[in-house]
Amino acid sequence: MIPSPARLVENGPKPIAAYIHVPFCSQRCGYCNFSLLANRPDLYERYVDAMERELSRLEVPRPVKTIFYGGGTPSILPEQIAARLFELIRYWLPLDNGGECSLEANPRDISEKMLRFWKSQGINRLSIGGQSFQETKLKVLERDHNPNELIDSVERAIAHIPRVSLDLIFAAPGETLKDWLSDLDHVLKLGLEHVSTYGLTFEKGSSFWGRLQRKELKRADEDLELEMYTQAIDVLTQGGLEHYEVSNFARPGQACQHNQAYWNGDRWWAFGPSAASYLGKHRSVNHHGTLNYLRRLEAGETALIECEELSIDQQWRERFVFGMRQMRGVPWSQWRSSVPEKTRSDIDTALQEHIDMGYLEVHGEYVRLSRAGLVVSDGLWSSYFDAS
Ligand code: SF4
Repeated sequence: MIPSPARLVENGPKPIAAYIHVPFCSQRCGYCNFSLLANRPDLYERYVDAMERELSRLEVPRPVKTIFYGGGTPSILPEQIAARLFELIRYWLPLDNGGECSLEANPRDISEKMLRFWKSQGINRLSIGGQSFQETKLKVLERDHNPNELIDSVERAIAHIPRVSLDLIFAAPGETLKDWLSDLDHVLKLGLEHVSTYGLTFEKGSSFWGRLQRKELKRADEDLELEMYTQAIDVLTQGGLEHYEVSNFARPGQACQHNQAYWNGDRWWAFGPSAASYLGKHRSVNHHGTLNYLRRLEAGETALIECEELSIDQQWRERFVFGMRQMRGVPWSQWRSSVPEKTRSDIDTALQEHIDMGYLEVHGEYVRLSRAGLVVSDGLWSSYFDAS
């Protein structure tokens, strides 16, 4: 029997963040395999009803420092329906004074009217899924906006919302280094204070995955992708943004507090289809399919499909690896004394190996990725888990 979220946090550290998954988009982009339904406005009301039931499992309001509405496309919800969702969240997950409340938005949804509405509802950070300012690249990615719509939406958002971030994808099929440099140039010219850059991945379940197997699409050359990533670091940092996490850049004070909770090993709540939470010492995951999620909540059943208790060993290994995604690294010399002996010795061994290879470096009390380690970082982390 899967315990309720309220039970899971009884004896552990309290969650400080909350993720709300809104599983709707106007259409599905070619590279996306997220849990969502395209073009289903008929389900919006049912979704908010289900969220009301899921949230009531909290039993009492649980204050948090950050809230993140992600998806899917949370900005797709019309005012009346979104207002109901925001009200539920304000009741069950009241935000601390000065807390961060982010909403992911698609450029086409970002009108003056909606910006005023979101702001009135407490949204103080907008994360725009722009992906590119290049017409051809946007078409390849099957996005539903064009470059001018993106530029206008960024300018409008900056005028209304205190903090605005932009997601960009690089290494799209056919993309040149010149295209990518032009995308980076737009970030600086528009005065964006936060940007997340991701190399395109081909995920099972996406239409790009099938097209790749059928050889209708070609991955970008590995060297070109690497060059794009290193150019992003150079151009954005020279433009005054700090590279604070493998994929994230921000002006001082603009880093995403919600994502930092994940990387710092803090606990977080998560609601909606496929949402994964980290409560006390448990990691739990909701039903992935939206219709299944709705039916279960409507039948009075739990949204959870899986709940795993993490050992102290697993908790430390995860905390180490997530923490290392941040450019400042982790204060390993401080942590060592709290870590169980076997875990400490395994991590020490992997660490020394990666320091000798030049991928990690020691900086005061911290151990962190070197520039050489940054570009291979995804390949390093399994060494910190395998020995468990
Ligand atoms: S990439 Fe974003 S906008 Fe496109 S389908 Fe996925 S969640 Fe929706």
